[in-house]
Amino acid sequence: MCGIVGYVGARDASPILLDGLRRLEYRGYDSAGIAILAANGKIEIRKREGKLNSLIGALNGDAPKGMLGLGHTRWATHGAPNDTNAHPHSDCSGRLAVVHNGIVENYAELRAELRACGHTFTTETDTEVLAHLIEQEIKGNEGNGALALVAAVQRTLKRVRGTYGIGVMDMTDPELLVAARHFSPLIIGLGAGENFIASDIPALLPHTKHVLLIEDGEVAALTRDDVHLYTLDGDSVERDPLVVDWDVQSAEKGGYPHFFLKEINEQPAALANALRGRVDEQGVHVAELDALDLDRIQRVVLLACGSSYHAGLVGKRVLEEWVRVPAEALIASEYRYANPVIDDHTLAILITQSGETADTIASLRLCRSAGAQTLALTNTIGSSITRGATATVNLQVGPEIGVVASKTFSAQVLLLELIALDWAQRRGTLDTARVKVSAQQFARLPDIVHTALGTDHQMQQLAKKISSRKSCFFFGRGFGYPTALEGALKLKEVSYLHAEGYPAGELKHGPIAMLDPEIPVIAIAAHSVILEKVVSNIQEVRARQAPVIALATEGDDGIAAHAGDVVYLPHAPEELTPMVATVPLQLLAYYVAIERGCDVDQPRNLAKSVTVE
Ligand code: GLU
Repeated sequence: MCGIVGYVGARDASPILLDGLRRLEYRGYDSAGIAILAANGKIEIRKREGKLNSLIGALNGDAPKGMLGLGHTRWATHGAPNDTNAHPHSDCSGRLAVVHNGIVENYAELRAELRACGHTFTTETDTEVLAHLIEQEIKGNEGNGALALVAAVQRTLKRVRGTYGIGVMDMTDPELLVAARHFSPLIIGLGAGENFIASDIPALLPHTKHVLLIEDGEVAALTRDDVHLYTLDGDSVERDPLVVDWDVQSAEKGGYPHFFLKEINEQPAALANALRGRVDEQGVHVAELDALDLDRIQRVVLLACGSSYHAGLVGKRVLEEWVRVPAEALIASEYRYANPVIDDHTLAILITQSGETADTIASLRLCRSAGAQTLALTNTIGSSITRGATATVNLQVGPEIGVVASKTFSAQVLLLELIALDWAQRRGTLDTARVKVSAQQFARLPDIVHTALGTDHQMQQLAKKISSRKSCFFFGRGFGYPTALEGALKLKEVSYLHAEGYPAGELKHGPIAMLDPEIPVIAIAAHSVILEKVVSNIQEVRARQAPVIALATEGDDGIAAHAGDVVYLPHAPEELTPMVATVPLQLLAYYVAIERGCDVDQPRNLAKSVTVE
């Protein structure tokens, strides 16, 4: 799940690579490294365990100078996260440098074979076999100029089982960068007299908005002025570049101390963007649904991981309630190995912020091969999930850099609800007047979420109250249930405070045994048709002396009698609860993390896009 960046051009490569790594660090931060083809004709590698700042500290302003280079920020899969295992990796002679995102599954057998040929390995990584295999393949082919390296990479990759996005440079060819991908993200940025590779768009934004996609099983040869794409068999590939419409400020902190806080606060604008072109006073139109044969669909599976799964639970609910189509939300890593029943009457909705989540992509392939229609819901144009899906709905919320999801979660919920509304309208399960009322309510969502951000100060105070507790429970019913799950996940992810999310009615079937005066319970008690039931559940936990923090709707004066603390949310129809009530829960997680001294934007053990299973 690492980040890769590469540069070939006429500028000094190191600052470009280090800046690119900074923008990709959310992808992994076990170590960072750069390789530069220096003026002495040698490849200089500098790499360090830990975050990018450790590398920058070690460089001490004295990074190698050169106009061809590669950079890498690692999320270790094979070998400890230490200096030695940090990328870039080299071959025996030091002629090559390689960076890699993914897993070489047959590395052990390749390593044994290469050792038998006399290669010496210096790291525990799977990646190092790539450097030695390319070294082996290039021998005797030097006469072919630039194509020698391209051909060696092609031959090497034909022998590799697993996943990769790679960047390769060769000190004998100062003008050439070679890249390739297979189930790991990698894109090309096209500049004027310079070209780039990167794992994700934010690393390219300061330099270019012109992006060329590399497809699985393709190899790219980049020089300053040209980019050529080939298949592994050497056939040329033609593809038009895309223009991305994100601006560089959207990938920077803009005065906030952390990306997570910035992205929480960005939600009104992000949701307004997500609504653009889809909702107006007259109704809802999700144009991407036109690509599906909706009449054929008899059931829906929503497949996702983490926060996207919580959004999927909301999607299941509204699809059943509004479209009257049977729907289930399932965790992609389980689904893919569960031998599920899929047929050509199934619609699979694949939800992944990055578009690169390995388990969700595998689920897409499984569904597609069984004849299902597939709809991808992602924030990343051109990502892997978009390529195989029947249709793709883009969240349109700009880059999310903080490792934990915030604005992409609320936008996923919003888009799933809009999809359900539009489909219900097309199917006739909701009448036009009803959809129109909803459209008007959705149009107010950015303002409602803006008001919910007004809980900031109160959440800061509550964070002080709960930050030293050993555990927290979150519960809710209906739309409050996925909200509770998301609130608990946020708290765990950024503050490492143990938290559990439950359907409110489920606590008494076991977890209530855990409760005592030291364990706060956060109850999602926003306006809903089953609010009374939630209030009863609050009574049950109060009877066990657990302190209750209730999230209730403004004007609900009765709730104060049942909860020690009440956080008032703005009025909103209950289907908006997951987007409105999540705001204070995100803020709570943020401030608890600050109280506990945690690294909010880069929580331990996490990476933003989970490209391994
Ligand atoms: N498998 C490689 C390693 O452990 C790359 C990991 C990654 O993709 O983050 O170094």
